[in-house]
Amino acid sequence: MASNSELHLMNQLLNLEEVKVIDYRIIEGIGIILSLENTQKKVLCPNCRKTTELLHQNNFQTVRDLSFGQQLVYLKVNRRRMRCPHCQNKFTEELEFVQKRRVHTLRFVKKIIEEVLNSDIKNVAKRNDLSEQEIETMLKDLGTYLVKEKPVNLKKLGIDEIAVVKGQRNYYVVFVDLEKGKLVGLVEKRTKKEITEHLETWGEKVLSKIQEVSIDLWKPYKNIAKELMPQAEIVADRFHVMKQVTDELDSARRKIKREAEKLKSKSQKEKILSGLTKSKYVLLKNEQDLNEDEKEKLKEVEKVAPVLTKMHVLKEKLRNIFESSKDWREGLFNLADWLKDISDYFPKSFGTIKRWIGEIVTYFDERTTQGIVEGINNKLKLIKRRAFGFRNFNNFQLRSLLTWHFAS
Ligand SMILES: [Zn+2]
Repeated sequence: MASNSELHLMNQLLNLEEVKVIDYRIIEGIGIILSLENTQKKVLCPNCRKTTELLHQNNFQTVRDLSFGQQLVYLKVNRRRMRCPHCQNKFTEELEFVQKRRVHTLRFVKKIIEEVLNSDIKNVAKRNDLSEQEIETMLKDLGTYLVKEKPVNLKKLGIDEIAVVKGQRNYYVVFVDLEKGKLVGLVEKRTKKEITEHLETWGEKVLSKIQEVSIDLWKPYKNIAKELMPQAEIVADRFHVMKQVTDELDSARRKIKREAEKLKSKSQKEKILSGLTKSKYVLLKNEQDLNEDEKEKLKEVEKVAPVLTKMHVLKEKLRNIFESSKDWREGLFNLADWLKDISDYFPKSFGTIKRWIGEIVTYFDERTTQGIVEGINNKLKLIKRRAFGFRNFNNFQLRSLLTWHFAS
């Protein structure tokens, strides 16, 4: 029999609340086997939600846990069959650290999956003395558990989307914890119904704690946020506002190019087209990032299409407003001023920004942006392309959630 001080040490190493070590053995060539006892006498009846202490039957199982140094560790767990005196129900107790009918503890499963994400199933199986089949099962199990997992302590929610196939109007919706830089959910279709249903699975407890929701300029997002998180401030993401303006500038550039191509005068046509060659980059990029050659290019553009350089200046002015306005009052004042100048140049953005002005100026209070979402989206695109060849949404979702589950 192990001494009390040995057991005390074992319990500290084991660090599981629901059980305590009552004995242990070390078997050469196999590992350490810890015999455990459940710490709680009372078990909740899943049927009537009352507690019971009536043991129906002992049910010992051996499950593998995290290794201790070179030694594999096995836990001898009593998964008791209980009887409920209130409703006569007989049931097997649930244990948090090991799922039903599983032979590995949850933390062991997590460690293995983490290794798989950085390597591949075959190698991890070999390294850990497991079969590939066992690892496949773990992946599936943990996936089911992760998909149901709710965000913890979520205060700033970002909602964005990624294109599933480039160029197609088909998007996955991405939920991000903006403070932690963590993906907290994915939805297969960008429809109000699907997004609402997904958020509702988080429950009132999670939704009511969200203080800010950062969205792009898509009306249904605003409505969803108002309905499900009425306490939260809605922020129109500044990068999406900028994108709206740069997109409009780019379509103006393309339109001028198309019209030039139709010109009858050959010299006139060539002059405009050569002035506009490689103009996209210099017009759309932040001016402060342009080098001398690129600034020269901007001057060439001005000679053939002054309206584009004017639009460029206005676009830069907007960026500057986002950068330098100190609070929402100053932001609102600057934006109102800016709007006066743009209606002729940016008719589309003019309308949109006016409609979203409240959500846009909210930015100036907390300066919440979806800056980090871009990085997350890039990572998601990588996951999509990756060798695992996850073609359907569920697999993609699983791999993505796993990635961020272990990244944080
Ligand atoms: Zn009962």
